[in-house]
Amino acid sequence: MESSNFFPVPSKALVITPHPDDSELGCGGTVATWIKQGAEVVYLLCTNGDKGSSDPDMTSPKLAELRKIEQQKAAEILGVLAVVRLDYPDGSLEDTPLFRGQLVEAIRRYQPDVALFTDPLRTGFYLHRDHRIAGTVALDALFPYARDRLHYPEQESEGILPHKTPEALMWGSESPDTYIDITESIDKKIEALAAHESQVPSGEESNALADLIKITAARVGDRCGYKYAEGFRRISFSI
Ligand SMILES: [Zn+2]
Repeated sequence: MESSNFFPVPSKALVITPHPDDSELGCGGTVATWIKQGAEVVYLLCTNGDKGSSDPDMTSPKLAELRKIEQQKAAEILGVLAVVRLDYPDGSLEDTPLFRGQLVEAIRRYQPDVALFTDPLRTGFYLHRDHRIAGTVALDALFPYARDRLHYPEQESEGILPHKTPEALMWGSESPDTYIDITESIDKKIEALAAHESQVPSGEESNALADLIKITAARVGDRCGYKYAEGFRRISFSI
């Protein structure tokens, strides 16, 4: 069994999520657990998820509207304080100064103790482009851009001050080293995922999804001694 590499409950966490539903899948249990223990959590949602449907009657504007409502509902179930939307079209994230500046602004505005996002490094299987780019840009935004006042100096003149975020936790990692006990919050995670009705099966099949979530969380839990857990790769920014 691996050590759980204890991670303290933060005062403030910022979740940077590429699409609606990624954060529930990646860290919904952790978010619910921390909020129950007094943490303040804000979501930064990068895209509107407007390509995620195979329904022949669906359109991108309709899907974006649906997913906005679904994400808001999921966040409310978990107790998330706010969902800030950048509203990029699904599949359009690029590593640009604009996108990096938007992440820097969110980090400086919310001053989190920890940021959570997708691990951009994968070698074993392919990763959605938006996940890879959101993860890469999040890392860059945290260090050194949000820290250094001369990056995006116009933010400082608007009263949005530089911030050093001490920790990052990345979900979807091939090499997790930090585990959060989500035994008490697994049902909230499943409930929040179910709010993404356009993405998850309904009726009988929703039970299969709930079972799959539990099996996956139990498998992660086996590695660290918890009944159910979520695993992350951790980066500590010491300077
Ligand atoms: Zn996604």
